[in-house]
Amino acid sequence: MIRFFIFLLLTTSIFAAEVHRYRWNNGESYLVFLQNNNLPVRKLYYNLDKDDQRLTEEMRTGIHYQILTSKDGSIKQILLPLNDELQIHIYKNKNSYKFEAIPIISTTKVEAFHTTITSSPMYNILKETGSKKLAQIFVSSFKHSLNFKNDIRKGDELVMIYKQKYRLGEVFSMPTLQVAMIEMRHKKHFIYLNDDGRYYDENAHEVEGFLLARPVRGGRISSYFTKRRWHPILHKWKAHLGVDYAVRRGTPVHAAGRGVIVWIARMGTYGNLIKIRHADGYETRYAHLKSFRRGMHRGKHVKKGQVIAYVGTTGRSTGPHLHFELRKRGRAINPLRIVQVTTKKLKGKAKKAFIRLKKNYNESVNLHLNNKTHYKKPPPFENMGYIHLLTEKKNG
Ligand SMILES: [Zn+2]
Repeated sequence: MIRFFIFLLLTTSIFAAEVHRYRWNNGESYLVFLQNNNLPVRKLYYNLDKDDQRLTEEMRTGIHYQILTSKDGSIKQILLPLNDELQIHIYKNKNSYKFEAIPIISTTKVEAFHTTITSSPMYNILKETGSKKLAQIFVSSFKHSLNFKNDIRKGDELVMIYKQKYRLGEVFSMPTLQVAMIEMRHKKHFIYLNDDGRYYDENAHEVEGFLLARPVRGGRISSYFTKRRWHPILHKWKAHLGVDYAVRRGTPVHAAGRGVIVWIARMGTYGNLIKIRHADGYETRYAHLKSFRRGMHRGKHVKKGQVIAYVGTTGRSTGPHLHFELRKRGRAINPLRIVQVTTKKLKGKAKKAFIRLKKNYNESVNLHLNNKTHYKKPPPFENMGYIHLLTEKKNG
């Protein structure tokens, strides 16, 4: 038996249905959301398995979601994005509501803009694009190498090339920086996203991160971060919002970066859990711990690399391992893309490939610099909805 998922993006007028767009409110819970919409709480929450229940906790403030209603106002479909790849789909089928997690369809565009500095990169990017996210990404990418406060002059120029996802015709999820260039006192400074998913400067030196490469020593990664994965046995979409390190029970766990312990106790399927809050809205989580190190408590300041706990298998876990999560403003991100301690310098083949990539990027940057490319505003929201059909077909 093969299952086919078919997604169509169509204007909804054809279906005599209306799409309503809402914003997920601060502090709103999935359960309250169901109650407010007169949806069956038992069917759509209590009867779900633990994994699906956990998914419903991933709804974040500010997320835009859609409700598709028929002419009489009754709910036909709801789409609740959990991250930029997976969404909860609640739909009516033969007068009863169903729950499932399905992939998000989005399109990605490469975009770029140029701006001349009159005040600061933060101010001028915000003025040019209206996007706080773009301004923050640009500024933080140079945080460890440049001093904007002292060295910026009026008339300095910058170019940013990035990838932006769109969902239902609307800007969606965090942009991914491809190249950042700033010209200060007639010297150009660059940061490039390399093919290995890490950032390098013009000399092929990796841009240093603030977190440890890994919170435990030895062992191996037994499960990678994924915002969506098709589970072949359970036949459904799942997410693994962290990295699992298979190591021996009792292995010391190190704080991945400087910060404050904000949670140190049991928490559902996580088992014994520590949460550490770091600068810039980052948070790390260490789950399934056997025990906490003596002296650790809520509110305690820890240093990067400090031992905080020991690996175990508490909570829902099939064997000793550390489940490690990195979150930024509540949203799970792949730790392996950001966490890095040793500053890598590219050599040999990898360096040659990087130089080619750099050359291509520089040509684009120069083009935008010469054209003084303006930020293009995304098109207005269109009243469109997903039509989701699930068909099962006998195979051969
Ligand atoms: Zn895990």
